[in-house]
Amino acid sequence: MSDDIDADAFRPEVIDDLPVVTCTRCDAEWDLEFELEELYAGNQAVEQFALDHMRHTGHYPDDVTPWIATCRQCPAGEAFLGERPARRWARTHARHTRHEVEVEHGSGVRDTVDVPDGT
Ligand SMILES: [Zn+2]
Ligand SMILES: [Zn+2]
Repeated sequence: MSDDIDADAFRPEVIDDLPVVTCTRCDAEWDLEFELEELYAGNQAVEQFALDHMRHTGHYPDDVTPWIATCRQCPAGEAFLGERPARRWARTHARHTRHEVEVEHGSGVRDTVDVPDGT
């Protein structure tokens, strides 16, 4: 297959090395061709897959530990695969609603984002 490198360079839709996600709870394995081709998810394909898997099955696939932002005062909450977007969501929610939000990660991190001061 190494002879094809030049040809593939002109066909960016050809992906040699599809990321594979496994889930022991589902006892299944997926390549991310759908995410990469249909959703144009690019580098976020794994993240997109994990969030979709959660949305549709209620759990995350293997090797995915989400950051979860949960409001303490209302039902709002979101899961993220990165710390930064989780904290941004928490800060934004706190800023707009003046609710305290908890940010949590499976590794044991648990933080509270306080309502910002200032009127
Ligand atoms: Zn699963
Ligand atoms: Zn809230």
